[in-house]
Parts: sequence; C-alpha cells; structure tokens
Amino acid sequence: MRIVLATTNRHKLQEARSVLSGLGIEIASLDEFPSIEPPVEDAATFEGNARIKALYYAGILGCWALADDSGLEVDALDGAPGVLSARFAGEGADDRANNAKLIAALANVPDARRTARYRCSVAFAGGERIIATAAGTLEGVILAAPRGSNGFGYDPYFWIPARAMTAAEMTTDQKNSISHRGTAFRAIREKIEFAAADGEI
Ligand code: IMP
Repeated sequence: MRIVLATTNRHKLQEARSVLSGLGIEIASLDEFPSIEPPVEDAATFEGNARIKALYYAGILGCWALADDSGLEVDALDGAPGVLSARFAGEGADDRANNAKLIAALANVPDARRTARYRCSVAFAGGERIIATAAGTLEGVILAAPRGSNGFGYDPYFWIPARAMTAAEMTTDQKNSISHRGTAFRAIREKIEFAAADGEI
C-alpha cells in the first residue's frame, strides 16, 4: 500500500514514516508531484483543513492520502493564532515575525493567563472519501523570553509544565513522544490498522 503525505516538509515525512513503520505502507511526499498546485486551506478548524488537503490529493492523485494541519491556540487571545499560525504576522511571515507578534500581543498578560496548546488534526482519505481522522494536543504556557534552539515555529516560547522545559529544549524524539503531531499520527495509525483489518482499505 502506498500513501501520499500532503507535505513537502522532510521532518513531517520522517516522523510519519517512523510512526507508520511496520504496516507495510510506503509513504511518499508531495516532492514527487511538484507540478500540483496546493488547495486553498480556508476551513475554520485544523480538522477542516486536514480534510480539505486529504480529499484534494486523494482525488487528484487517485491514491490514499494523509494530511495534517496544526497550530497554536492561545487562551488569552481567544484561540488565536489558530489556523493562521503559519502566517500570524502576515502572508509569508517567518517564525521570528510570528513570535514577535505573539509576544507583543501577550505583553500585559500575567503568567497565570498565558495558557496555550498546540493542536494537530490528521485526515486519511481515499476513493473520494475520508476514511479516518485523528487529533492530538500538547498543553503549554507562552513565556515572555525564548529558551532553547531546537524545534521550529513557536517552540522557544512554548513552555511545557509537565516536562519543565520549552519545546525548543527537547530533543526531536522527546518532542515526538508527547507532541500534538506524534499523538495524532499514532492515533491515525491505529485507525488505519482497524480499517485494513475490516477490509475497508
Ligand atoms: P502546518 O500544520 O505545518 O501548516 O503548521 C502550521 C504552523 O503552526 C507552523 O508554521 C507553526 O507556526 C505552528 N506549529 C505547528 N506545530 C508546531 C510545533 O510543533 N512547534 C512550533 N510551531 C508549530
């Protein structure tokens, strides 16, 4: 069985291959299909965007497709940046600009109200329908100053109380073992296994 993962991100590809290993599934990325235009991700939720991508690539490529969508939800900002996490500071914004906007927005918010979480939704599609979806979360608190240099995105400011470190102070394996994405991919693995056992795929 071959699945296309709707990403060109090497880290996501590696992580998906590791979580889905042992199932006899070959996982390709969009790097193999450079001429395909991406779909518009205009859903209001992570699950909605994951569904859009999985259905789009399964349809256009005529194969099984797995897509994820993720981001940061900050309680004091009513859930922002949410589905806009990658472009919080504007279209094409980099991590620095997004983090600067986040920290400025929380400047007057006391420690106790800086709670946040990463969320990830994953959707698996084939034959023009969604076969399964799964989700994962990682709870944290937004710091005022960065710590650590691993990871990406908001990680240097994302303090994980349960581990007493930021996501950027964790090794890749440590982060994958508790991350929103790791949890979502492990859950979709189980659902893919059930679907295969049921003869659904
Ligand atoms: P996407 O799901 O790859 O489009 O990610 C959306 C955006 O959410 C990223 O560009 C980051 O800004 C943020 N994000 C998602 N997951 C993480 C994470 O594990 N660490 C830091 N930032 C993240």
